Amino acid sequence: MKNLFFLAIISLVSFQTYSQNVNKEDSLIIKKIYDTALLEGKSYDWLDYLSNQIGGRLSGSLHAEKAVKYTETELKELGLDKVWLQPVMVPKWTRGAKEYAYIETAPGVTSTTDICALGGSVSTPLGGLKAQVIEVTSLDEIEKLGEENIKGKIVFYNRPMQANLIQTFKAYGGCVDQRYAGAMEAAKYGAVGVVVRSMNLRKDDFPHTGSMTYGDLAPNLRIPACAISTNGANYLSSTLKLQPKLKFYFNQTCRTFPDVQSYNVIGEITGSENPNKFIVVGGHLDSWDLGDGSHDDGAGCVQSMEVLRLFKKINYKPKNSIRVVLFMNEENGLRGGKKYALDAKNKKEDHIFALESDAGGFSPQGFSFDCDESSFKKIVSWKQLFKPYLVHFFEKGGSGADIGPLKKDGIVLVGLRPDSQRYFDYHHAANDIFEAVNKRELELGGAAMASLVYLFDTHF
Ligand SMILES: [Zn+2]
Repeated sequence: MKNLFFLAIISLVSFQTYSQNVNKEDSLIIKKIYDTALLEGKSYDWLDYLSNQIGGRLSGSLHAEKAVKYTETELKELGLDKVWLQPVMVPKWTRGAKEYAYIETAPGVTSTTDICALGGSVSTPLGGLKAQVIEVTSLDEIEKLGEENIKGKIVFYNRPMQANLIQTFKAYGGCVDQRYAGAMEAAKYGAVGVVVRSMNLRKDDFPHTGSMTYGDLAPNLRIPACAISTNGANYLSSTLKLQPKLKFYFNQTCRTFPDVQSYNVIGEITGSENPNKFIVVGGHLDSWDLGDGSHDDGAGCVQSMEVLRLFKKINYKPKNSIRVVLFMNEENGLRGGKKYALDAKNKKEDHIFALESDAGGFSPQGFSFDCDESSFKKIVSWKQLFKPYLVHFFEKGGSGADIGPLKKDGIVLVGLRPDSQRYFDYHHAANDIFEAVNKRELELGGAAMASLVYLFDTHF
């Protein structure tokens, strides 16, 4: 009993000394990471080039290929151990000419409104489509209204994002079914087109695109789908109350082509102790085409590149192999994420940790972790090291779409969690541009990511 007591005291003391030493050394390294990121960071310059010299990087586009070449070249400049391209076939959908829409309240009395085609939508018939409108707020409502009310009409999905949810991604999650499955459901009841309220908490004139599906609906039954700006949606809704028989016209010329070859861009610092254990940090290189994809997800890509650059710069030699992966085709297919995970599995690469930044380049507040309880406990013990940098959110939850396919027992999947309050002002819209990203906030995100990767690599 007595011996046990002494043993407990000794181990407590040695644990405290150990954790103090570890913490002191860790906090010095984390400070070095932050200093380097804020005083001589590279992520903002990379984002400037991606956004302003290349622009929106829709899968299968020339811009996406330029982004592959550019980031490959920049990663090679960093003096990593390996840089390579991983081939992946991706869908190719093109928007065509700028979309056009108006609301007609009486013959010849029209007012134009801002729309954009949803990603993957078919075009309208040549010359556009004009029909009466039926407004709904859910997919269930379609079923209740049935064919007698839906047939021949344009279905207008107008359920807004819920403004009292503090985590705006939850508000997005509560609405996105309208965009993703709205056309497929409406088509089953004979609708001729679909207009979806943009997933945006702000009132403005920007329509927000995003992916949609027709499921296994036969090609001849597929109907065109567009997003309308929040101002446009409010105007259409209020006008419908006065004039229920009004007509909506829209014209879009989008097309789907056969799949094309593209690439994930990968760079690696090979581990000094465990070269066959892999840590991934990444974002997605493709983006929607309306803006230049600076927040979604140029920011996540350059922050991930910055993690490896910071390690080289402060001369940190990781124990495990650390890879930056710039995934292709998150937005309309997730082909890059799936391909990376499949290759890793085939090559029996032991992935132990993956961190994705795909929630905007805003001030980092923390991370969410998809892992087992014991891993989470250990990670939470590092929380105090982030206190000086105002990073405090350590919760269990989702990680990132591209790293999701890596999920297996024992792996720790992590999502960077920046402040999300303004994210949906820009998400998938024409205003997601370089100017919308703040240099310091972007750099703080990269530094937080590098710090977490450092801690995991050193202590796990
Ligand atoms: Zn994204």
